[in-house]
Amino acid sequence: MKPVLALVGRPNVGKSTLYNRLTKTRDAIVADLPGLTRDRHYGSARLGKREFIVIDTGGFEPRAEAGIYREMAKQTRQAVAEADVVLFVLDARSGLSAQDHDIANYLRKLGKPCLLVANKAEGMLGTAQWSEFYELGLGEVLPVSAAHGQGVREMLEAALDRLPLTEAAVAVPAEADEGVIRLAVAGRPNVGKSTLINTWLGEERLVAFDQPGTTRDAISVPFERNGQKFELIDTAGLRRKGRVFEAVEKFSVVKTLQAIESAHVVLLLLDASQGVTDQDAHIAGFALEHGRAVVVALNKWDAIDSYQREQLQRSIESRLAFLKFASMHTISALKRQGLAPLWPAIAQAHASAFKKMPTPLLTRILQESVALQAPKRSGMYRPKMRYAHQGGMNPPVVVIHGNSLEGVPDSYRRFLEGRFRKAFDLVGTPLRIEFKIAD
Ligand code: GDP
Ligand code: GDP
Repeated sequence: MKPVLALVGRPNVGKSTLYNRLTKTRDAIVADLPGLTRDRHYGSARLGKREFIVIDTGGFEPRAEAGIYREMAKQTRQAVAEADVVLFVLDARSGLSAQDHDIANYLRKLGKPCLLVANKAEGMLGTAQWSEFYELGLGEVLPVSAAHGQGVREMLEAALDRLPLTEAAVAVPAEADEGVIRLAVAGRPNVGKSTLINTWLGEERLVAFDQPGTTRDAISVPFERNGQKFELIDTAGLRRKGRVFEAVEKFSVVKTLQAIESAHVVLLLLDASQGVTDQDAHIAGFALEHGRAVVVALNKWDAIDSYQREQLQRSIESRLAFLKFASMHTISALKRQGLAPLWPAIAQAHASAFKKMPTPLLTRILQESVALQAPKRSGMYRPKMRYAHQGGMNPPVVVIHGNSLEGVPDSYRRFLEGRFRKAFDLVGTPLRIEFKIAD
């Protein structure tokens, strides 16, 4: 599980700027896709090989008593509770305020590992103008400029050094281990995750077994179905209790993110009677950004009429357009309807995510595609695509080598994506196309 850093501080100190700086390399991988929301406060980031999750808590007002502020304060508290290290962001230019003292008191009581980040310190990294921050009694102060990127690496190193277990922060290579499919059933509260999982675990064809020595606090359930081994990952809001899964009282975005990241395949569960909500779209966006294979199940199909079905169809088309690669299934976990087709879909998504694509075949498909429809000239030169090789699995990445590829439009990228998908029968996984420009 990746460690979690939470950005906390009063409004306007630069938390979102810092958040964007920390998460942007990751987000840049995904082209702008219709429906993919970007106003998120949870994201993945990395420093060298060390990966972590960052939470931007928005404006924190510990004394907030009413309305939206109270709701925000509640969410901030949850984020802080889930964080391994709290980055308390302060404004090096305006100095300490009463609000900063409030937040400091709150953090001191919590006793979490904490780092003071003196932001907006560009041009003053060497000076000690922020030395008054030491008054807060929360330990080390590190100056950064989120806007200009100065000091950010040093600050992150200090933050990650505060983690109890640094090994846990090293990225695990995304390999298929011994034919086991790691499956996460993800979805917001009440979509039917526990109903579905417990229906599965109650099936005769599904043999669940405990790993020796991990009966308590097990974070996953291994099982076998028709000879295929699976590992079911504990998901947000779900915890294993003995032989059944139970919903825990609190939905956790962090747990959802961690489950999605450690899965090979995400079964995204939606409540058909509710349409696609913001939270559904966010969870789907996480899965996409992490390149996960996805199968979508529209649950509670039994409970909706034909008018609602049409509406659902439309909301999927507009809000989940970026999941076009995934297969969709209508199910009723409660009535045990439509469940059988999920298994081959999961297996197919997994196989697609780990597909091996040999260079000669990739290159042939590339050349055939270019012959069929060449990329348009942009600027002085016509793009020239020479060959392609596989740059990774889960998700599969196709790296295209050539010249003048800078201006190749997204529409052409999608054209190539479609061709590779068809040739390699890739269903249920994102496929990334990268251009590598020869120098
Ligand atoms: P948040 O409310 O804490 O999320 O703060 P924002 O990230 O929205 O930033 C508040 C303001 O501070 C914006 O106008 C930013 O452009 C500015 N800002 C953020 N980081 C820096 C920085 O490193 N230096 C300076 N000078 N301004 C910054
Ligand atoms: P979770 O929070 O995602 O684990 O959701 P639960 O499995 O606890 O289900 C939430 C509610 O939806 C419960 O009252 C279930 O009985 C109900 N539910 C789950 N699946 C279905 C279904 O297929 N059809 C109908 N009508 N209700 C369902």
